[in-house]
Amino acid sequence: MAISLPELPFKKDDLAPYISANTLDFHHGKHHKTYVDNLNKLIAGTDLADKTLEEIIKIAAKDTEKAGIFNNAAQIWNHSFYWQCLKKNGGGAPQGAIAAKISSTWGSYDKFAEELKNAGVTQFGSGWAWLVMEENKLKITKTANADMPLAHGQKAILTIDVWEHAYYLDYQNRRADYLAAVIQNLINWDFANANLG
Ligand code: MN
Repeated sequence: MAISLPELPFKKDDLAPYISANTLDFHHGKHHKTYVDNLNKLIAGTDLADKTLEEIIKIAAKDTEKAGIFNNAAQIWNHSFYWQCLKKNGGGAPQGAIAAKISSTWGSYDKFAEELKNAGVTQFGSGWAWLVMEENKLKITKTANADMPLAHGQKAILTIDVWEHAYYLDYQNRRADYLAAVIQNLINWDFANANLG
């Protein structure tokens, strides 16, 4: 079975003006799709061809000869996860179980939001800012390129893509403005709450 490109979980113009339909056309229709096409070519006819995406990631993460497979597989997973972290009229302070966990971990939502934005701003080059669960504690982390929590025994709760292709058409070099807009207006806290379970 081949790995497939998931549909976006929202309409392409739902996230405007914070993320434009034009950005999503390229980001989902070209970048995400290319990772899917590349991985399917790399695993065709190998013993990875019948594995799930998560199984491929875990196997390739431990084998430096499979770096190309890891990079494409992890980028497919990261993007599919990222789309679910976004929704129209999202963002701002959360409700539900995650709200109490954020307060007890960071003291306030504002402090949490500042640290999440800072993780994305300070990721040098391409990568991802994350909210993860590790040993039953919430943590904010950042990873380079395709690297991701599953490769480090962490459970992903939220992510924001900080590769330039995620924001350059809408914000040019202003990564901090993109991060602030996503955190204030697009974070899907229902998805984050579901990931706590
Ligand atoms: Mn991306």
